[in-house]
Amino acid sequence: MGTQATGSPEGMRVLVVEDDRSIADSLVRGLRQAGYTAEGVRTGRAALAAPSSDAVLLDLGLPDIDGVDVCRRLRARSDVAIIAVTARGEEADRVVALDEGADDYLVKPFGLAELLARLRAVLRRRRPVGPEILRHGPLALDLRTHLVTVGGRPVALTPKEFGILECLAADPGRVMSRQQILERAWDAHWYGPTKVLDVHIAALRRKLGAPGLIETVYGHGFRLGAVQEYP
Ligand code: CA
Repeated sequence: MGTQATGSPEGMRVLVVEDDRSIADSLVRGLRQAGYTAEGVRTGRAALAAPSSDAVLLDLGLPDIDGVDVCRRLRARSDVAIIAVTARGEEADRVVALDEGADDYLVKPFGLAELLARLRAVLRRRRPVGPEILRHGPLALDLRTHLVTVGGRPVALTPKEFGILECLAADPGRVMSRQQILERAWDAHWYGPTKVLDVHIAALRRKLGAPGLIETVYGHGFRLGAVQEYP
């Protein structure tokens, strides 16, 4: 699991579908200044032919294809975030666009700040969630129910123990420093002694009953190790 900040524009691609060149240019410019990778197209046909993006800002009043139809076709083939754009008064179009898979809508004229806020919100909602179950050898962690099993045997852990294990299992084999584990399993700003971690690790090892599963990497921290055998 990454630690990517939610709603960050870095690396996010936005396609602006707008036939009014001056509006399109200013939107593309504004999005780029905000850190997005933005491109503009002026027709529905070009929108459907464009490379895939993370979000589409879709004017519903296009010269060639009905914008609602473009929305439906984009949605049919991907889960791209779609914000429909309409002129004031076109309420019926907005409703249809939402029914056809748009995530949100904006009414012209709108400011860049509002667009950026809506965009952050739809991208946050669309951000794919990681796997619900982390597995490593005999170990399985259900992130939703917090059920942990070793070789199919349920293991009861405290919330802190679960947090430590989750941190290690998120990237098996990678050494996590004491500080990293404390920040993840305790809170973002742990300034206390890191010795407290050893107590929890010892308890965790005992409960898991799989020797070698949690390896100490001296001078660095801990990681999940390869497990040859387990009870
Ligand atoms: Ca238009």
